[in-house]
Amino acid sequence: MANNALNGVMGLCVADALGVPVEFMDRNTLLNNPVVDMGAYGTYNQPAGTWSDDSSMTLCLVDSLSKGLDYNDIMTNFMRWFEKGKYTPFREVFDIGISTREALLRFERGISPIDCGGVSEHDNGNGSLMRILPILFYLQSIYGSEFQDIDEAFKIIHNVSALTHGHKRSQIACGIYISIASEILKQMDLKIAIESGIYKAMEYYKKQNDFVDELTYFNRLAEKNFFKTPLEKIKSSGYVVDTLEAAVWCLLNTNNYKDCVLKAVNLGGDTDAVAAVAGGLAGLRYGYDNISKEWLATIAKREYIEDLCEQLNLAVTRTEIERPCEAKEVL
Ligand SMILES: [Mg+2]
Repeated sequence: MANNALNGVMGLCVADALGVPVEFMDRNTLLNNPVVDMGAYGTYNQPAGTWSDDSSMTLCLVDSLSKGLDYNDIMTNFMRWFEKGKYTPFREVFDIGISTREALLRFERGISPIDCGGVSEHDNGNGSLMRILPILFYLQSIYGSEFQDIDEAFKIIHNVSALTHGHKRSQIACGIYISIASEILKQMDLKIAIESGIYKAMEYYKKQNDFVDELTYFNRLAEKNFFKTPLEKIKSSGYVVDTLEAAVWCLLNTNNYKDCVLKAVNLGGDTDAVAAVAGGLAGLRYGYDNISKEWLATIAKREYIEDLCEQLNLAVTRTEIERPCEAKEVL
């Protein structure tokens, strides 16, 4: 059986590492001198293959979900990362978003995990979107590949977002992203899979009174011709809607892992997060074996990442076998 956790998570980590040296660089500078390979140093003065918070927080989820779904345990892993440098390449946290930091400080003060994420309009950075991917594998183990009709499945995605980002816009972005990821795993044509994933998520949210007012922010993404949007209208900022749009646009306008993640990095701005969000989906679509061997060789703690993914893969495939009755009850 394909190790989808490894495909997606390594796709995310490699893309993150490609973006780290040029984070915050503007698009025009990158147009004149584009990233074409794994770089080093730059923005954070880190060696080649260094991945950042996007990957670290994703690995916090991977590790926790191997034991099942426990919001307190996920937050505890986030704290181990934030305070002790666990789940990092070199035990150093050099990159953390403002909303994420505030959420972790709330957790430290004893706030319940799913109430820790900020809920103001300013709390719509890409900090939950960039780390949401592993919940896909848990959801599929419980609900199978058609979870988009299941309220509880979306609630779980929203709760995992709300650990650091509780605004409905961030939650919808995560819901759409996981819906796309799920359709990609059905091995359909990539464009059809993306359209289907967006459509199914939008159909779900249209029926939710609490969310429907926020859907307007995702209308452009849901348009039939979104992929034709000209480059200058694609923003690659840290705003969750911009990041989701930019990542999906890169997938729709390339046909292999390398081109997709380089396109994402070279949009400039929040390069590592946009690339990580795109790279997770590109990894699912094209697979681990299609990631450059040279790039993989530079990735810090590659075996550690692979071991964590293997554990999650074993856990979710085992759950599929052992828990069919429970899944039916939930349905
Ligand atoms: Mg980062």
